Amino acid sequence: MGGRLLSIGECMVELSQGGEGLLRKGFAGDTFNTAWYARACLPADWSVDYFTVLGDDPLSGEMLDMMTSAGIGTGFIRRISGKTPGLYLITLKNGERTFSYWRDSAAARKIADDADHLRAAIEQADLIYFSGITLGILAPEAIDTLLAELRRAKAAGKTVAFDPNLRPRLWINNDVMLRTIEEGARAASLVLPSFDDEATHFGDATITDTIARYHGLGVRDVVVKNGADGAYLSFGEVEVHVPGVATDKIIDTTSAGDSFNGAFLSRLLGDNSPGDAAAFGAAIASVVIGHHGALISPDLLPR
Ligand code: ADP
Repeated sequence: MGGRLLSIGECMVELSQGGEGLLRKGFAGDTFNTAWYARACLPADWSVDYFTVLGDDPLSGEMLDMMTSAGIGTGFIRRISGKTPGLYLITLKNGERTFSYWRDSAAARKIADDADHLRAAIEQADLIYFSGITLGILAPEAIDTLLAELRRAKAAGKTVAFDPNLRPRLWINNDVMLRTIEEGARAASLVLPSFDDEATHFGDATITDTIARYHGLGVRDVVVKNGADGAYLSFGEVEVHVPGVATDKIIDTTSAGDSFNGAFLSRLLGDNSPGDAAAFGAAIASVVIGHHGALISPDLLPR
């Protein structure tokens, strides 16, 4: 029996180096990347919808067309006249990638401005996914509106999945980031943090500390990702380590965590055990990091 996954956040225009001074245009953003991999991995009787706000400019239109051709529902995406999407540029220097962002006035900052619309979208979903980046682009009142709706969904028994995705540059200071991420976690039933971020910003000494901290915030299920080492799950009674899938071809680790999340959630919704779902997430992520870019063709993914 199918259902509906709703991912909430910002998809941006991505400009990367195309050689000879040319820039290549793409589209990506953490919550959108997860929606992309969930769509690629879920059976057809599940719908995957993206929730954001776009402008009425041609790039917003192209982004919507891209989503539609990927099979991702755009019916909840509002468009605001005169606004544009956020944009980022990847520059390469000595093999190191640097990201520059133009996102301060992006339409996506209006995600929670129409609370009735937000509620209607969440009410129609079985699983709702959001991240610390979704929260980091919003004004304080908008964060309150979004989290109130997510707490409502959690109380109604829906799965509310949250990747803290700690990004200090989105926040006015570290303390505000950490307190808001905690509020985000409280609104979630499932949290999918990456250990290196959590250790850096929350000061966790071990993965067990990260798991305990999120359980302490009222999160039932925790999946801590740890790069090549794989993932550590504390799911109700189940505690399991799922190793990463070794690969000797690492081209671009962008989206390792996002693709893991999308693949993991897709298997979880298919009633697989959390451990089996994480093993599938690890298999998908190990393929994704072997290719350039955040979004790789579903044809390249294992089934
Ligand atoms: P994030 O991208 O959010 O920082 P991680 O780096 O922890 O997340 O990676 C997420 C998942 O991707 C890991 O749990 C693992 O399954 C897979 N992964 C990441 N790096 C590697 C790697 N070097 N080799 C194999 N798998 C990896």
